[in-house]
Amino acid sequence: MAYRNFIDGDWVDSDSGRTFAVLNPADNALVGEVPDCGASEASRAIKAAAAARLGFQQLERSDRTHLLRELSEQMHVRRLELSDLLTAEQGKPRAESEGEIAYARSYLDGAAREADQLPLEQPLDPAETGKNVIVRPTSMGVVGIITPWNFPLAMLAKKIGPAFAQGCPVVVKPAEDTPLTTLLLARLCEEVGIPRGVFNVVTGDPSLIGAEFMSNRDVRMVSFTGSTATGRILIDGASRNFTRLLLELGGHAPFIVTEDADLDDAVSGLIASKFRNNGQTCVCPNRILVPEAFEKRFVALLEAGMRQLVCGRGDRAGVDLGPLINDRAIESVEAQVEDALSRGATRVLGGHRLKFEGLADRFYAPTLLTGCTSQMDCFKTETFGPVCPVRSYRSIDEAVEIANELPCGLAGYVWCGDTERGLSLAQRLECGIVGINDAAPVTASTPFGGVRESGWGQEGGEVVLHEYAPTRTYSIGGSL
Ligand code: ADP
Repeated sequence: MAYRNFIDGDWVDSDSGRTFAVLNPADNALVGEVPDCGASEASRAIKAAAAARLGFQQLERSDRTHLLRELSEQMHVRRLELSDLLTAEQGKPRAESEGEIAYARSYLDGAAREADQLPLEQPLDPAETGKNVIVRPTSMGVVGIITPWNFPLAMLAKKIGPAFAQGCPVVVKPAEDTPLTTLLLARLCEEVGIPRGVFNVVTGDPSLIGAEFMSNRDVRMVSFTGSTATGRILIDGASRNFTRLLLELGGHAPFIVTEDADLDDAVSGLIASKFRNNGQTCVCPNRILVPEAFEKRFVALLEAGMRQLVCGRGDRAGVDLGPLINDRAIESVEAQVEDALSRGATRVLGGHRLKFEGLADRFYAPTLLTGCTSQMDCFKTETFGPVCPVRSYRSIDEAVEIANELPCGLAGYVWCGDTERGLSLAQRLECGIVGINDAAPVTASTPFGGVRESGWGQEGGEVVLHEYAPTRTYSIGGSL
């Protein structure tokens, strides 16, 4: 099926007429063809968004939050179509696609709810300021949105929720592997009456479209979720126009099991968190740290749990793990496992591709490694695949040291008996969010952002609304 881009309320092709193919990662079937656009189409979309800005800002905020709720409702009504398409372009099991749609909706509903409660003006006491000062949140203006392929709908909703609530028109560049659900969402935006020019989608060359975002003065902020390497390119580009950046970048989450933890519970939590989307999430545990004395028992339980995981195409009932997103992804997982084995890790389970008749060569067996060290790539670089590298520790200080040895800090996990002690341990981790006996700590109402090389700013909860509408101050002279 041929898809078109959505610019200024119109469905359009690329200027060159060129397209690129979106393939189902499970079997290489063609799912759709999308326009292959670059700077000129992005520039037109930005112009349309800039033109829509004033009208959108002048709507009552409650009208904008009403539109968000309508969009969320339409996502619910069209959930089967959305989840089929999501599984086709992304590969995740159907149940996870349905879960992602519900999760995406929670960001739209959450932004609407939080925005409705936010004061339109920050009251300041003239007795304190000595003058009459008014402080008002003011819409940021046009926002460029760049989304990843692992949660194409949820990460988009995480950004358009606060953007629309705060009156910011957007230009979205989805990932090349997964642009189709974003284009379907554009259709829903059109149907619920999001004003023309407020939601634009441009698919195509990421570096050309990204460069246009960074060089165009009408783009006031770029909100990005993706790799740290691309985050760095955006940071460099931002110096040109001082474009604001909201960045959620890579992580490499530690998962610390403490001596008093219930091991069965720790293993279930680890499996739930690690294997969501086949290990292709930026918050999934990648460095598993276990007390030396319990390692054997823990690994045996983990192996037994991992043996239950069913791999296959995401649209087949009962499948837990789909394919990896593309060839580059499986090659990188494979290289990480080979590196670990060549440096002395022990393979307990997996460590190879899985072949299925008639399917693409992108399935990797759930893999359990022990004896991992800081020298191994799997302890240094984000994994994005179904690999559990385990390492034992002797003291909690040693575990904390290992957990904090990387320059990134997105999510972390502590599995413990005593949650007070768990919280103290969590506070020693250089992570933006820590799940304490919690395998899914990120929710739409939870403020969350990475530290150090894992990002700038926070999304979720009320706090993200301020990112899209910083306050401006008006000081009125004369006597009080
Ligand atoms: P990954 O390596 O996991 O695909 P990326 O950071 O490359 O992570 O991808 C996340 C998003 O960033 C995708 O939408 C991708 O197209 C986009 N992207 C990649 N390179 C650039 C770039 N130079 N400028 C802007 N966006 C980019």
